[in-house]
Amino acid sequence: MNLTAQSRPILLNPGPVTLSERVRSALMREDQCHREKSFAHLMRKILDSLDRVYPSSLSNHRVVTLTGSGTAAVETMLSSLAMNNGNTLVLANGIYGERMAKILKTHEKPYTLLQGDWLEPIDLDQVESLLKTKEFSAIATVHHETTTGRLNPIAPIAALSKKYHTPILLDAVSSFGAEEINFADWNLLSVAATANKCLHGIPGLAFVLADKTILETGTTQSKTLYLDLFPSYTTQKTGFSPFTPCTYAAFALDEALMELADQGGWLARRESYYHRARQIRQTLSELGLTPLIEAQAMSSMISSYKLPKNLSYQELHDQMLERKFVIYAGPGNLSQTAFRICNMGDIQDQDLHNLKRCLQDILSN
Ligand SMILES: *Cc1c(COP(=O)(O)O)cnc(C)c1O
Repeated sequence: MNLTAQSRPILLNPGPVTLSERVRSALMREDQCHREKSFAHLMRKILDSLDRVYPSSLSNHRVVTLTGSGTAAVETMLSSLAMNNGNTLVLANGIYGERMAKILKTHEKPYTLLQGDWLEPIDLDQVESLLKTKEFSAIATVHHETTTGRLNPIAPIAALSKKYHTPILLDAVSSFGAEEINFADWNLLSVAATANKCLHGIPGLAFVLADKTILETGTTQSKTLYLDLFPSYTTQKTGFSPFTPCTYAAFALDEALMELADQGGWLARRESYYHRARQIRQTLSELGLTPLIEAQAMSSMISSYKLPKNLSYQELHDQMLERKFVIYAGPGNLSQTAFRICNMGDIQDQDLHNLKRCLQDILSN
């Protein structure tokens, strides 16, 4: 028997995550009809818990859930809140920033894309000169760019956003629940996120937090029926949803949110992610591998590294999969030269220990 073998698969991809037994058991709750009071009660509890993940969101923002993946949340946010007759400035340094521009294009909304290099931080001087010379109705950007694992610093963008009176539409799909999101100070019109990344639920439920005054009084910019925040917000006050929600994803998210609270909230989760990431990064550095981006820019949960010359991604992937570790390729045209290890989900110290031995076995020769 292989010494590093373990009994359960460990997902080291950026969502869906390895479920805790507690969340997995919640999937086996009794069936519920979404039109019954008991389910509305559960949804109200989930909405309340989502509003409380970041207490700073409570004063000015409210959450709306929808059934779909993370992209559905981002598309709903942009379809409802990016202006049809105003220009949105998109700041991109990876796949997900570029996807925001694609969504705006699909919805025929005016936008200007500041297309950055995937391996570089967003260029704040360029952002400011654009804001200075042109009128924008919003800035759209990505908090944690999962493409490379870079945590884009939002505070300096928020400072510009305030200076030029242009609020932020933030894709926080892979940071909500484990990185700081400062609702009080970042001039956030809206934030989009999902159940199945840092919150440790299952795919199927996503959500958007938006400025509460806009939700109460704003006119929607959406040209779609389903991806519109406003009808959902109004209906969801009662706990009901205009369309059939993924009830099982709600069971899982309810349990995952209780687990997050029991474990100490987003700050404690960030700590535990850093604890894991430090070990993973140390092992990879000891094995002589080079990080894809500068170490201080990495988030708490993704480590992206260049592949060693003598090993293809497929070989590394397949050898790790034999030991039940699922890793992720580098993004886009980096898929043959880089790989990503993500440490979200229910990963225990024993798993980290096994992971270290697995990496050493494969990479040390
Ligand atoms: C995962 C991810 C998305 C898209 O989520 P899907 O669930 O794949 O639709 C969007 N933005 C970021 C930053 C992500 O990490």
